Amino acid sequence: MSEQTDNFPDLGLDHRLLQNLEHQAITTPTEIQAQSIPLALAGHDLIASSKTGSGKTLAFLLPMMHRLVKTRALSKRDPRAVILAPTRELAKQVFTQLRALTSGGQTKIALLLGGENFNEQVKALRKDPHVVVATPGRLANHLEERSLQLNGLELLIMDEADRMLDLGFAEQLTLINKAADHRLRQTLMFSATLDHAEVDSMADQLLKSPKRVAIGAANAEHKDITQEVILCDHLDHKEALLQNLLNHREYQQAIIFTATRTDTERLSALLQAENISCAALSGEMSQAERNRIMDGFSRGHQQVLVTTDVASRGLDLLQVSLVINFDMPKQAEEYVHRIGRTGRAGAKGEAVSFVGPKDWDAFKRIERFLQRHLQRAVVEGLEAKFKGIKPAKPAKKAAPGKAPVAAKPKPKAKPKQDQRSRRQAKPSLVSDDGLAPLKKKR
Ligand code: ADP
Ligand code: MG
Repeated sequence: MSEQTDNFPDLGLDHRLLQNLEHQAITTPTEIQAQSIPLALAGHDLIASSKTGSGKTLAFLLPMMHRLVKTRALSKRDPRAVILAPTRELAKQVFTQLRALTSGGQTKIALLLGGENFNEQVKALRKDPHVVVATPGRLANHLEERSLQLNGLELLIMDEADRMLDLGFAEQLTLINKAADHRLRQTLMFSATLDHAEVDSMADQLLKSPKRVAIGAANAEHKDITQEVILCDHLDHKEALLQNLLNHREYQQAIIFTATRTDTERLSALLQAENISCAALSGEMSQAERNRIMDGFSRGHQQVLVTTDVASRGLDLLQVSLVINFDMPKQAEEYVHRIGRTGRAGAKGEAVSFVGPKDWDAFKRIERFLQRHLQRAVVEGLEAKFKGIKPAKPAKKAAPGKAPVAAKPKPKAKPKQDQRSRRQAKPSLVSDDGLAPLKKKR
């Protein structure tokens, strides 16, 4: 990995944790780990951010485990640490990493997900786990039902904290905070995107004099991910482009993000008809179904996953080398998280976004957020008539209230390759004016 400093032993971690890391062949801390771990070990509350795929999970799991193995519990029955994550898939993944870190040790752990059997979870809680990983809604249910108490909680950790607020979990977070309200509690918040007024006010409520660690800005360019934008006219055009990309690009696995569940199912059926092995995942499915699909995809049973923002956060799927935004996400931060499903742990990835007239506003918001112009690409034989929407003219020139109009396509010289048949159409990068072909970087 590129961003390495110090050694794990220099960070002051317990030797059992160091041994465990050695077994996992994890040798050098990433920057976020090198900076967060000493602060967390010193007992500080923390608001920490760094780009997707930079190792935030271990940045909170390691100091948490250190505290648990080095100090005595405040309570014999209550969990000592709770880790919250916004989606079931992410909670499960954090749990798997925790299980690897605690293997062979004494630490008891439990996973509490929404959509799964409540009574089984009550049974698991009766075994007095030391660490509970949960989605916030289900954890709050257990507090309300009194199958769980948090008076002895020593560490409250929130992964993808901003997403939990977006999903409307503020009330549950407040409830959890109140249930574990004592002087000795340490609270850690992590995400790739934390610069939000809402996050600040939640942090004021939950954290005590937190230290801030921010490695790079949320909108900083992710050097391992090549990003490009393809303009589109309508749904059929997007579907033709999708098939073309999946047939012509080289990738290990791909994730396609769409706006709705109906789209995930329609596109998945369309790709299957083209003999592309593919699965659809959405938040409305049963948990058993969601688990089955994620397990299959992470084992490489399918090459393509079509999904909604339910899979945009945190998921660490190392074989994903291509992300396609079939529709643009409404929130600019979600773009950063979606494309962050590739380019993980130093690997290279590609992100391609389809921008049609309906996506234009969202796309412009994303470019403003990134403070960068995303590179435009065209697929020969599948060029769009749509060329973007010009901003409304300043008030003195435009009639008041006049809606923005589509820019007329610039007259352009016909590229030679136009003669090529549509079947052979291959994606190629062009410069921003849509003219001179550029050589594609690999
Ligand atoms: P983030 O939460 O920042 O998006 P993750 O914690 O999911 O990133 O980690 C991304 C990947 O990097 C995981 O596969 C993880 O095992 C790996 N990883 C984490 N820390 C290290 C490290 N110090 N050295 C090598 N790989 C690491
Ligand atoms: Mg993460």
